[in-house]
Amino acid sequence: MSIQTEIIEQIKKYDKIIIHRHENPDPDAVGSQGGLAEIIRNTFPTKQVYQVGETNASLEWITTEDQIADDVYQDALVIVIDTANTPRIDDQRYDQGAALIKIDHHPNDDQYGNLCWVNTAASSSSEMVVDLVNASNGELTLNKKAAAMLYAGIIGDTGRFMFNNTSAHTLRITAQLFEYGIDAPWMNRKLDEITPGIAKLSAYVWENMKITPHNAAYIVLKHDLIKKFDLGAAGTAPIVSVLGKIDSVVCWTLFVEEEDGTYRLNLRSKGPVINGLAKEYGGGGHPLASGAKMDTLTDEQLKEYVAKLDQIAATYTGEEND
Ligand code: AMP
Repeated sequence: MSIQTEIIEQIKKYDKIIIHRHENPDPDAVGSQGGLAEIIRNTFPTKQVYQVGETNASLEWITTEDQIADDVYQDALVIVIDTANTPRIDDQRYDQGAALIKIDHHPNDDQYGNLCWVNTAASSSSEMVVDLVNASNGELTLNKKAAAMLYAGIIGDTGRFMFNNTSAHTLRITAQLFEYGIDAPWMNRKLDEITPGIAKLSAYVWENMKITPHNAAYIVLKHDLIKKFDLGAAGTAPIVSVLGKIDSVVCWTLFVEEEDGTYRLNLRSKGPVINGLAKEYGGGGHPLASGAKMDTLTDEQLKEYVAKLDQIAATYTGEEND
């Protein structure tokens, strides 16, 4: 039995299904979560299906979360989607159900769950949800609402088909979602829109970012500064791509200070692999898009980190377009 069939069997078996995703969600986290929830609701109207985690105001156009009591977990199937490791699961009650399934496209560093389906070749977890439907021989059915959420997830993780995780398969899956009459231009616009605060912070980043000799870029955003622009630490997500828009920049890191004085690192690259560096700092992620956390960021720590990032940038052999 394939892993997809095993997952479908579990979905059929349980009357209650609770779907989790990672903290600080992005469009793929909520899109794959909401899309899978909607598919199960659409296919099995008598099942109770919940999507949990903190609702993120900037992603409410995709879907919102359910608040559930602890006792709902009794006899429930829990599915965690788009989350590589258990500490990052939003709502740590994920282990309170009767069974646990992991579905993810990040490197499988933490293989949790009774069933674990990881496909790092998938552009997104949303793409995997469509793969699950297609593997079900009609046992799971898509509708327009689910298709829209899954499209939002795919354009989120592929940067609207700009990143190298976009495959021919991704585009076929996307074509399948288009068949449901989704409003793709509206979602593309939603994803591209920024708030006035983000616009001003982008200007600050372009003014103040540093670029190393081998074209690694970085900037540290202190909590006080983020507050000045009326943004929470999580609200800085649209800033991550800003540094990479500069043509000479090869790889980059955004250091964002959280309210408690710790730092969240967003690492990105146009070619050289940077998830090894993320792992060195206790994080992880994709080869060209990773993250990590640091408890402190002294001048010395920053210098040491930037030297490593610069060495990674030095390995860049140039843009490929063949
Ligand atoms: P972000 O920079 O937060 O958008 O994250 C980029 C990628 O890195 C995502 O695919 C995350 O799953 C992964 N990632 C981010 N933060 C961490 C972390 N602290 N530990 C492990 N992986 C992370």
